[in-house]
Amino acid sequence: MAATAACRTVEGRWSLAGSTALVTGGSKGIGHAIVEELAGLGARVHTCSRNAAELEECRRQWEGKNLRVTVSVCDVSVRAEREKLMDTVKRTLGGKLDILVNNAGQSMVKAATECTGEDYALVMATNIESCFHLEQLAHPLLLRSAGGGASSVVHISSIAGFVGFPGLAVYSMTKGAMNQLTRSLAAEWAGDGIRVNCVAPGGINTDVAKDMITRDPEIVKSQATQLPMQRLGETEEVASVVAFLCMPAASYITGQVICVDGGRTIA
Ligand code: NDP
Repeated sequence: MAATAACRTVEGRWSLAGSTALVTGGSKGIGHAIVEELAGLGARVHTCSRNAAELEECRRQWEGKNLRVTVSVCDVSVRAEREKLMDTVKRTLGGKLDILVNNAGQSMVKAATECTGEDYALVMATNIESCFHLEQLAHPLLLRSAGGGASSVVHISSIAGFVGFPGLAVYSMTKGAMNQLTRSLAAEWAGDGIRVNCVAPGGINTDVAKDMITRDPEIVKSQATQLPMQRLGETEEVASVVAFLCMPAASYITGQVICVDGGRTIA
């Protein structure tokens, strides 16, 4: 790996111009903000979700903002759909992928004793199996972009991968696994010029958080007492960290899990 960010100009270090990216789950929430952040910084982005109408509405709005974003329907919990997604990405982005953001995730709040085999299989398939498999599928495309740490994988895990929350056992297992996959793949793919990092959000202001507040306001109140910044994060506050990790400016960072959590994990 010869070239490094040190060789570039300041503008080059803090830009994604000319990059290509796949972000899973971009029609809502954190994924939507990541798509806008990467595209706003100059990347061509492809994103997916399960709802065709919502995706098309997003695509239309992005077009209106002059952001270069393409979309396709994919349920990332299904192996054949992941393979189809990567074929679409290969075609749409010209066979080269600089950035893969595995964001799509399934939360499930349920006592461990009540989780069925189906619950377990769905959360595992959506959150961790999809992440691993999409990375296997993307590896040849990432390799074509690599060099000087130029290609980048980012996982969106959760502080639930570090902290124990009641009712979130299976979800938290998948997020802890994403954190470890970050370190393992970073070590394995460093020689290929592919950096692998992870962003672990705390409570972020999306439909998921709103759902939780409506369902169990007491838990949310008790959690707030352990939150130094005393507020939910905004989706853009996660997206900006993801964008930084994908930039040449972060070319010597790999295998890291960065919490974006208002200080929740240090309180
Ligand atoms: P949202 O529900 O707001 O958005 C999730 C996005 O992923 C949607 O676009 C959704 O579209 C898509 N998606 C969900 N399941 C699938 C699937 N099986 N296949 C393809 N797309 C899918 O969630 P958030 O933005 O809140 O969460 C995003 C990530 O951040 C998740 O991994 C979550 O675990 C993590 N996170 C969120 C936190 C929070 O407080 N919000 C905290 C910590 C981590 P559709 O449903 O139409 O498929």
